[in-house]
Amino acid sequence: MTLTIGIDVGGTKVAGGVVDELGNVLASNRRPTPADDPAGTRDTIVEVAAELVEQYPQATAIGIGAAAWIDATGSTVLFAPNLAWRDEPLRDYVSKATGLPVVLDNDANVAAWAEFRFGVGKQAESMVMITVGTGIGGAIVVNGNLWRGANGIAAELGHIQSVPDGHPCGCGRLGCLEQYASGNALVRFGRAGARQEPERAGKLLELAGGDALAITGRQITEAARSGDGVAMDAFAQVGYWLGVALADLAQSLDPQIMVIGGGVIDAGPLLMGPLERTYRDQLANRDRFPVAEIHAARMGNAAGVVGAADLARRG
Ligand SMILES: [Zn+2]
Repeated sequence: MTLTIGIDVGGTKVAGGVVDELGNVLASNRRPTPADDPAGTRDTIVEVAAELVEQYPQATAIGIGAAAWIDATGSTVLFAPNLAWRDEPLRDYVSKATGLPVVLDNDANVAAWAEFRFGVGKQAESMVMITVGTGIGGAIVVNGNLWRGANGIAAELGHIQSVPDGHPCGCGRLGCLEQYASGNALVRFGRAGARQEPERAGKLLELAGGDALAITGRQITEAARSGDGVAMDAFAQVGYWLGVALADLAQSLDPQIMVIGGGVIDAGPLLMGPLERTYRDQLANRDRFPVAEIHAARMGNAAGVVGAADLARRG
């Protein structure tokens, strides 16, 4: 059985693992990301990989998933919002330093690949995944392959427009999905709701020490679970906008399954209920055709490492 190494590069940690053909993680390690130091981040990746190669010298390739835009050839990080990389030739650097072939992709593609190969997408041929974190990542699998687009930047699903002339987005457009359905949007909805209707935000304000501006995503999840009205509304809004976006994606791509990943899925039915209701309502006109089921991702934190390692195996 061939073994490969997967490395998940985030804004706070570099996590690595040795992974077999079935997606089992045989060994793992992690280091903090020196996020404001491009050379340091690069060398941290090499150290994490080298340690794993020492334990499993039979490993044949390395896959790297990074929260970044990667060029169409998969060799260079063009830009990484939370890391200091600009035009960083990461693939060849790590390959030279470790002596192994390296595959490089963005974190949303890598996580989706893990779901497609070993998680909820295992039986599917086509899949759309939206990963909801601080921002929003997207991935599209068509005929068993990731769809990267002509220029390597396909599936930036966080930046499809939800609201014409809506909330300004970091990408320069107005009203992007990321502004209405990300972890940051959840917090914005929670804070605004708590200011406007404090009487319905008792639990939420209690958790935030009475300060609406101090409300965090985790507090919104906790308060929503105990029935706080404003916190539940915040999830319902995020669910609504995700449901609209997934209905649009069903109309344009008609995939077999849709997957929602990221920290927000911990909220379970508080998010998935409004999301699925909206999705069904939006597609009610398609009642003569089956539409893709929506699933919560199930690979959890291992998705980045497992997906990257499996992409490396495919070369
Ligand atoms: Zn945007």
